[in-house]
Amino acid sequence: METILLVRYGEIMLKGLNRPVFERKLVDNLKASIRDLGKFNIIRSQGRIYIEPVEEHADFQQLIKRVCKVFGVVSVSPAYKTEIDENIVYETAVMTAREAMEQEYAKTFKVEARRQDKSFPLTSPEICAKAGAHVLRNIKGLKVDVHNPDFVLNIELRDHAYIYSRVIQAFGGMPTGTGGKAMLLLSGGIDSPVAGWMMAKRGIELHAVHFYSYPYTSERAKDKVIDLAKILSEYCKPVTLHIVPFTDIQLLINEHCSIGLITVIMRRVMMRIAERIARQNDAMALITGESVGQVASQTIEALNVTNAVVNMPVFRPLIGMDKVEVIHIAEKIGTYETSILPYEDCCTVFVAKHPVTKPKIEIVEKQEAGMDLETLILDAIEKTETIVL
Ligand code: ATP
Ligand code: MG
Repeated sequence: METILLVRYGEIMLKGLNRPVFERKLVDNLKASIRDLGKFNIIRSQGRIYIEPVEEHADFQQLIKRVCKVFGVVSVSPAYKTEIDENIVYETAVMTAREAMEQEYAKTFKVEARRQDKSFPLTSPEICAKAGAHVLRNIKGLKVDVHNPDFVLNIELRDHAYIYSRVIQAFGGMPTGTGGKAMLLLSGGIDSPVAGWMMAKRGIELHAVHFYSYPYTSERAKDKVIDLAKILSEYCKPVTLHIVPFTDIQLLINEHCSIGLITVIMRRVMMRIAERIARQNDAMALITGESVGQVASQTIEALNVTNAVVNMPVFRPLIGMDKVEVIHIAEKIGTYETSILPYEDCCTVFVAKHPVTKPKIEIVEKQEAGMDLETLILDAIEKTETIVL
């Protein structure tokens, strides 16, 4: 008998003829995500994936944590894999029930059996009855509750018997790399990492661009963004981070533009640069963490003015979300603690106290025409530093 990890995946099933491509990608991504944890056999069979440690003493907690971060995985169950033999199956069922009772203080259970191997002499209801009776005989204090049990003791008979009680939810989504590439505008804030995560969940490979204004923003602010990109890469390797020096552009904007328009003009330049770096890297869309009405630069008027400089689609997955909803996701995916570290962002260093909430595009364009932005944009792209995480 050995312990294995049973992996369920959902939406990929719907992909018709492309299904094998998606499944293969999922298996590749799983392999990559657990490679440094030891040797594993990864077996795909009948709409499931089984991960079997080759060596003893595999770190199962770590394995579960990693696998649950792979997009495409819907849920996992650590399971005992045994021969298809009645006695062994019932003994293992007792062991599983005992563990559930000890680890989760469970008091009630029911058995569910599925039988793919029809050569087994008992039907599913018969297996349930016999296994249930065996458990009740061997464990005191455990009762059957078919309507609302504390745990379900699952017995699946396939090529082998699989016995388990825990089902751990993962994030679902599509395997990274099946949805093309997009360029995330990644600040050090709470929103943009969440926006990137949401699009990566749809199978998109992330590139990220960060604008920093050294020495107005510190090295630590830059490290914070690298850390955020690293956290994202735990879900969707690789994340390619492009770090763009933005100081000269911000100083030029500050000098030439009226104070209330600085933010929106700065955002337009960011979008232009992001789009160009996206094209250089075959990324086909931009992603931002904008949400309507959150700040002055995110009114519908300001969004129009910002959007006007780019041709690619701009994905804004947070557009209709409240801040508390975004924070909730940030906490769940592990970016929140890093996002709230108090280092300054280039936007916070250079912004006006009262930006114009309804900027007029004609005025914005006129102010931009008075500066030589193009030279500085080319220079910033030239000096961009790229890190693959
Ligand atoms: P966030 O929490 O993501 O920083 P925010 O609510 O602070 O968002 P803004 O500062 O107006 O909003 O930024 C809006 C969006 O612009 C961000 O979500 C991000 O996509 C992008 N952005 C802002 N600053 C930067 C930066 N320094 N580098 C890259 N992208 C940025
Ligand atoms: Mg911000």
